[in-house]
Order: sequence, then structure tokens, then C-alpha cells
Amino acid sequence: MREVCRISPDSILPDRDGVLGHTGMAPRAEPAAGVARLVERAVELLGRHARPVAVFEEIAPSEFAQVLEGEGSNVSPNPIEAIHPRAERTGLFALTLGREVQDEIGALFETGEFPLGYLLDAAASAAAGRFARVVVARFLEAVVARGAAAPDRTALDYSPGYCGWHVTGQRRLFERLGPGEIGISLGESCLMDPLKSVSGAILVGPAEIHRIEAAYSCCAACSDHHCRERAGRPVALRPS
Ligand code: SF4
Repeated sequence: MREVCRISPDSILPDRDGVLGHTGMAPRAEPAAGVARLVERAVELLGRHARPVAVFEEIAPSEFAQVLEGEGSNVSPNPIEAIHPRAERTGLFALTLGREVQDEIGALFETGEFPLGYLLDAAASAAAGRFARVVVARFLEAVVARGAAAPDRTALDYSPGYCGWHVTGQRRLFERLGPGEIGISLGESCLMDPLKSVSGAILVGPAEIHRIEAAYSCCAACSDHHCRERAGRPVALRPS
């Protein structure tokens, strides 16, 4: 099962807190009126310039083990090694907001509109995260629709560069998935082009497989501990 999906940017535009959360501002802090107006402009620009497109594909668990192994640079053991053998379905995905957003951010910095450029960058990062949840939901819907997973199953995405999966793992992921089809390529340093892109794996199973004991060696150096928040809200077709 392989699908390419294009969605309207309007469906993934972040709200003000979503944008400011990517700037390091305290959640739900009240910004100055000028900042609030700039956030609105940034979101408006994002809606105008984003071209969200994604590709996802189901792969066999044994094949995912090879993708996860990457070039042998992972921290091991790591949480994903523990989760994926318990997953019932496994997929790979890549998504992008397209080149136009990146060009607009660059143009704002070039013309000295740094605050707006910075906020557009933050808005795009927030939108990419929202888009990832849409893609995960579409994958889950597809496997449930063909009876390959029960409707009460949940799904979460895991990306190279996080939780001990080394960023060079993207090379094997790209070889297997081929996201060039939607215009994403990988640079020598494993930076994706366009920049506002996300790639990773989607693991489907009972909600408890996503609950991670953050006691791995990679957790000591982890700055955000995002596993706690994510495990509490995996993508589900039915509210739990
Ligand atoms: S603490 Fe960080 S590295 Fe450890 S499981 Fe959570 S998100 Fe991953």
C-alpha cells in the first residue's frame, strides 16, 4: 500500500499558541499586540505559500528492522527498537510543505524582515508537525479500512534524529521510500530539501506500545522529552 496525498494548507495552519510554541515562548503566554499581529501575518503567508504533499507506504516489520538499523550509528538500545517489534503494522512516510515557503522565509530575511521571517519559520514548523499527524491518521485509516488493523488501534510517527535513531538513518529510509516522487531530496549531511519536510516511520498497535520508559541512554541528552506528551495522545480513529 503506497499513497501520495496532497492537502489544503488551511487544514494544517497552526493557531497563535502553536506558532509561539516553536519560538521558545512560554505556552499560552500573552504576546505584545505587535507580535500577535505579526503571528497573524505569518500564518496568512503560510496559507498562501505552503503546498503540503506527503507519501506513505506500508512495509513488512522485518524490512523496517533493516531500515531502522540504518548505517549502524544508532544509540542502542533505544525506544524505537523496543516499540517496533510490538507494532502490528509499520509504514514509512515523508512530507513537505514545499519550496515556496522556504523561499518566502529566505526572502523575508534578505529584506531585513527578521521578526516576520522568524515567525513564518516557526509557523511552518508547527504546520509540518500538524501535517505529520494528518499523514499518520491517513495511514491508520488505510490499514483499518482493509482489515489489517482493528479500529481501536493507535498510531504514532518516529523520525531519524530522535530517540536514538541516528539522523543518517534517513539515507536507508529514503532509499526504501523514494520521496523524490514528491520533490524531497536528502543532502550529504542528511538535511532534507525543501527544509520544511519531515520523514519517519509510522507504528500501529495498541496505545500502550507507544508508552516509553524514558530510561535509555539517549534520554539523558534529550532536551524536550516529547515522548511524554505524544504517548498521551497517539493518533486514534476512535476517541479513547
Ligand atoms: S526522553 Fe527523549 S529520547 Fe527518551 S524516549 Fe523520550 S523523547 Fe525519546
